[in-house]
Amino acid sequence: MTKKMIEVRQATKEYAGGTRALDGVSLDILQGEWVAIMGPSGSGKTTLLNLLSCLDRPTSGTVGIDGADVTRLAANQMAQFRREKVGLVFQQFHLVPYLTALENVMLAQYFHSMPDADEARHALEEVGLGARLHHLPSHLSGGEQQRVCIARALINQPQVILADEPTGNLDEANEEIVLDLFRNMHAQGHTLVVVTHDPTVSAMADRTIRLEHGRVVEPGEAMTAMPTGAPRVLQQA
Ligand code: ADP
Repeated sequence: MTKKMIEVRQATKEYAGGTRALDGVSLDILQGEWVAIMGPSGSGKTTLLNLLSCLDRPTSGTVGIDGADVTRLAANQMAQFRREKVGLVFQQFHLVPYLTALENVMLAQYFHSMPDADEARHALEEVGLGARLHHLPSHLSGGEQQRVCIARALINQPQVILADEPTGNLDEANEEIVLDLFRNMHAQGHTLVVVTHDPTVSAMADRTIRLEHGRVVEPGEAMTAMPTGAPRVLQQA
């Protein structure tokens, strides 16, 4: 049986001021599964991704990744766990502006263990950027910057790739290139969790989990935000 890579149990996240961004979320994601997270703005998608990427902790509930309850780890252990298990891809890229493409990837190696220029170069060649190694982010197109981010996310061979609107800032041609890289990651057995508004992206996933008001919309449950009479939107089996 395929093992569970992610197990979230009754996760609630309250921010100061009383906003309940997540409200008793429970979900399982299997190893090698590609899951899209969808939902209206403010429904808790980024908050959930922050928990899965060990950038934040729930107020209550647990978050299990590869068998470990990360909510029990001390802050430095959490950071170490994140570096080893998780690769992150953001809509806004978050590349260091004064480092080249190669150096940005090597920085991720440095934080994980040890920089290795040959390995970093190879990772950039794999995403089609062999001719852009020494360019600064400002000298790369949006699509190229996102490919650097993907090389950076993959460089330490994490089991889980978490992405927040990875195609949100890209034109159609670059979206296709980036989605091809996601298809490759999926084929290689990575577990992918992708927050997206884009139905094309979610259609490529094995399954879509929908959030609304900080809760998972269960199969058979209508989204309350939908106007009366609109089709019911379900969590795919
Ligand atoms: P989404 O990614 O689906 O747009 P978020 O997870 O960013 O949703 O936000 C969920 C809710 O939590 C929103 O109401 C948002 O305003 C609130 N929120 C998010 N981050 C914070 C924060 N750091 N402090 C206070 N409230 C926050």
